[in-house]
Amino acid sequence: MSNLHGIERAPEERVNWKTSFPFFLVHALVLLSFWTGVTKTAVVIFLVLFWGRMFFITGGYHRYFAHRSYKTNRAFQFILAFGGGMAAQKGALWWASHHRNHHRYSDTPLDLHSPQKGFWWSHVGWILCDKNNAWNEDDVRDFGKYPELRFLTKHDWIPPWTAGVASYLIGGWSGLVFGFLGSTVLLWHCTFFVNSLAHVLGRRRYATTDTSRNSAFIAFFTMGEGWHNNHHYYQASTRQGFYWWEFDVTYYILKTLSWVGIVRDIKEPPARVKSAARIRDGQFDMGMFKAHWAKAGAALSNVRANARTQATPEDLAHDPELAGRREQLEELISAQRSALNEHIQNALAHAEELGRLSRRQERQLGPVD
Ligand SMILES: [Zn+2]
Ligand SMILES: [Zn+2]
Repeated sequence: MSNLHGIERAPEERVNWKTSFPFFLVHALVLLSFWTGVTKTAVVIFLVLFWGRMFFITGGYHRYFAHRSYKTNRAFQFILAFGGGMAAQKGALWWASHHRNHHRYSDTPLDLHSPQKGFWWSHVGWILCDKNNAWNEDDVRDFGKYPELRFLTKHDWIPPWTAGVASYLIGGWSGLVFGFLGSTVLLWHCTFFVNSLAHVLGRRRYATTDTSRNSAFIAFFTMGEGWHNNHHYYQASTRQGFYWWEFDVTYYILKTLSWVGIVRDIKEPPARVKSAARIRDGQFDMGMFKAHWAKAGAALSNVRANARTQATPEDLAHDPELAGRREQLEELISAQRSALNEHIQNALAHAEELGRLSRRQERQLGPVD
């Protein structure tokens, strides 16, 4: 089944309306705010839960569990997992395993939320279908050995329900509906924007093999995750805003926590890494080239499919000679197209390998800076 944009969707990639029902229900329930009203307490709960849980997602789920970009003790690790769990984005191990996949295969068909499959897919489609329910143990062996993290991932309803009940006890119905559910919906979409919008909106500074971009707008709502091109380029860094003007609130909080000894080994990008691989300096932008190539290929096969339906079999039956020649030419074009495609794919694979090797070299040289 392919949609308007010629994007193929496998059956297990289609929205499962039954299991996704709670997701849509939460959106609808926020509308009850018109009946419950919005109290001052509810507004405070909304702000605390939005920014607080955003930190646990970006500083905990993302920069700690998925990327291990800094270290901490086991107690704070648990707090990060519980806090992130309150955001109702499944457990830390599930989240980290899927995110590691995203970086390993960014913007390829193997990327779980590849922007190549469309905006909707990278935003929410990939979590509303059945395909990604399970998580890969092998991807998170480092954290999978902690029983408390396995427990929280298995029973991932506990943290959000805790937050929901607490919101009700503190702020009544308005606290629950506007404070908790309202901030949860906003938190969802702001987090998802990093997967969808951050591959479309903003500028590309570094030549990466994906379509990631840097956007101040997204960085504001996600406490620094909008510097997504920086992040795809150099994932080892805890800090995602590479320059002072690239505000990165998650990093400021982690830095403060490091002064009191709660976290340690926070990583920054080395100066040499920051100035290398810039598109402005003439680096070949492989990520965008790949994306354009994929789009052109999809458009071409759409045209071919349409052209074929325009000439009916009856038309062709009138002139068998013409039909024969046409078929020959079509075959020739198609053979050359696949040869060209293969050639480009090979060239890209080699260029990517080259990029990977030089990045590894950068990293190994990195600590000298
Ligand atoms: Zn990441
Ligand atoms: Zn990304």
